[in-house]
Amino acid sequence: MDRTDVNSVEYVMSSASEKPRLLLHACCGPCSAGVLDRIHPYFDTTIFFYNPNILPKEEFILRLEALKTVVSHFDGVKLIVPEQSAEEFVSRAAGMRALPEGGARCTLCFDIRLSKTAEYLSEHADEYDFFATTLTVSPHKNAPLINSVGAEAAARFGVRYLASDFKKHDGYLRSVQLSKQFGIYRQRYCGCGFGS
Ligand code: SF4
Repeated sequence: MDRTDVNSVEYVMSSASEKPRLLLHACCGPCSAGVLDRIHPYFDTTIFFYNPNILPKEEFILRLEALKTVVSHFDGVKLIVPEQSAEEFVSRAAGMRALPEGGARCTLCFDIRLSKTAEYLSEHADEYDFFATTLTVSPHKNAPLINSVGAEAAARFGVRYLASDFKKHDGYLRSVQLSKQFGIYRQRYCGCGFGS
């Protein structure tokens, strides 16, 4: 994440005089904790939990409950859980099950989630200024790829995406520390369980 890139979280944090309204796609509670810890003073944040890739349903519920606990620790942060169906992800990822994590299935998975976030923002353009994602806090995920997918989704829907690399500044370590402090569930796999 480049501080001089006007389309980055870092730039907006260092330059905005008022709190911009951020629609933050979130993958889970632990990652959200690390990200909110860093950005909460700078943004009016609404979390957007859209992750049809999280299988099975019981796991989806566990992660959502952990996220709700995290949100309750940050004053003013709102949570949106749009309708979603795992079938959509499973059918679009059909034929990619055997691919290793980090390959084409994951690029599709990022696109499904960030495109939905961009679409929601385009339908509520008077309520939010930008969108971003917590996905870049993970040391297992390729932040430049995620940012490129996010920027492409933003261009398709005519909205603004803020690039990030939330693992910097000990973001991942902070997510682990806060998860323990909040006593929340921390998952042991990415989401779909394919290719592992
Ligand atoms: S491994 Fe994670 S990022 Fe990749 S497709 Fe599965 S849930 Fe999505």
